Amino acid sequence: MRITAIYDSVESIASPIQNAYIDFSKMTCSVVAIVTDVIQDGLPIVGYGFNSNGRYAASGLLKERFIPRLMAADPDSLLDGSGLLDPHRAWQVMMTNEKPGGHGERSVAVGVLDMALWDALAKIEEKPLYQLLAARAGRLPDERVWVYAAGGYYYPGKDYSALQDEFRSYLDLGYIVCKMKIGGADLAEDCKRIEAALAVVGEGNLCVDANGRFDLDTTLAYAEAMRQYDLFWYEEAGDPLDYGIQTALAEAYDRPIATGENLFSHQDARNLLRYGGMRADRDYLQFDCALSYGLVEYYRTLAVLHEEGWSARRVVPHGGHQMSLHIAAGLGLGGNESYPGVFQPFGGFSDELQIAESQVNLPSSAGLGLEKKANYHAMLQHAFGKQIRVR
Ligand code: MG
Repeated sequence: MRITAIYDSVESIASPIQNAYIDFSKMTCSVVAIVTDVIQDGLPIVGYGFNSNGRYAASGLLKERFIPRLMAADPDSLLDGSGLLDPHRAWQVMMTNEKPGGHGERSVAVGVLDMALWDALAKIEEKPLYQLLAARAGRLPDERVWVYAAGGYYYPGKDYSALQDEFRSYLDLGYIVCKMKIGGADLAEDCKRIEAALAVVGEGNLCVDANGRFDLDTTLAYAEAMRQYDLFWYEEAGDPLDYGIQTALAEAYDRPIATGENLFSHQDARNLLRYGGMRADRDYLQFDCALSYGLVEYYRTLAVLHEEGWSARRVVPHGGHQMSLHIAAGLGLGGNESYPGVFQPFGGFSDELQIAESQVNLPSSAGLGLEKKANYHAMLQHAFGKQIRVR
C-alpha cells in the first residue's frame, strides 16, 4: 500500500472568546487529508488530521517540509513488517534533517499528519482507533472516558449570570466538572466569578485556568485567595516553561494543580516532572498530542511518565478532540477535555456519543470517527470536496 496524495487546508476556528492571554478572533487550524491506495467500498481510504485549538495553522511547515518528505519517501519505508502503514516510520521520515530541541510549532505540523496517519491505519484495520491502540498495548480498552466541560471564557458583555447559564447548560449536557478562565480580570473580580460558578457546579467540581498569565507573586496571591474554595484544579498559573513558578505553587498550594498543554515534546514533559514540583499523587498533566508531534511522540512522553513514577491516569489531555479521546480509552489515560459548543467543528465528539455523569462512550466507526460529526463532515467537504469524495 502507499500514500497517493496529501492535501492540506487552513480552516477558521475563530470565535469572540478570550482567555487571560489571547483572543480567538483570528484563530486558524490546519486540516490534512492523507489519501491511500487502499480501496474500501469503491473509494480510497483517507485519513484526516487537524491541529488542536490555541496554535495557528502550520501550513508553511506542512507544505515546505513535512508533506514533501512523506511524498518523496520510498513507499515501502512507511510500512511495517506486515505491509501496513506505520506511523512510527512515517514520523522518522518527517523528522529527517530536523535538529533536536527548540521544538517551536513544527510539532503542530507533524502532529496534524500523525493524526491522519493513525486515522488511515485504523480505517484500514476496520477498527475504532482506541481498540487498535489497546490491542497493541496488550490491554482491554476503557469503554468510557471521564470528560469535563471547558468553557467559562471572557467575552464582551458576559456577566455572572451569563457564566452561570453557560455552566448550567453543561450540567444539562451530562457534565459534572466544569472549567473557567481566570486572570483576564483582577483577583477580586475573579473571586466573584468563581463564587458565581461554584454556586452552579458545586464545591469540588470547578477547575480554573490562568493560561500561563501570572508572574510568581500573582500565582501565589491567587493560590492564597482560592484556598477557601474546594477547586478541582488550578491550571497553568505561570509561563509553561517557568518550572520555578510551578514548583513554588506546588509548595504553597496543597490542592491539585494542572499544566502541560504548551509543552510539545517528551523532553519538555520530562523537564516538567523533574523540575516543576508536580506531585504524582494529585496533580494533572495536559499534554496534547495534536500540538506535540502526535501519538508517536506521545508514546515517548508516556514512557517518560512511567520512568518518573507517574501513572498515565494522571494525564488529561488538552484540546477536547477525538484523537485524545481514543488515546485516553486505548492507553488508559485519566480523561479528556471537552469543549461543548466551543471551537467548532474541531471541538467535541462524534454525534453518536453520549455524555452521562461526566463520562463519554466511544465511537463505533473505524478510525477516529471524525466524519460522524455533521459539522466536521461539512468542514471536510468544504476543505477537500474538490479533490476527494468525503464519505
Ligand atoms: Mg488550559
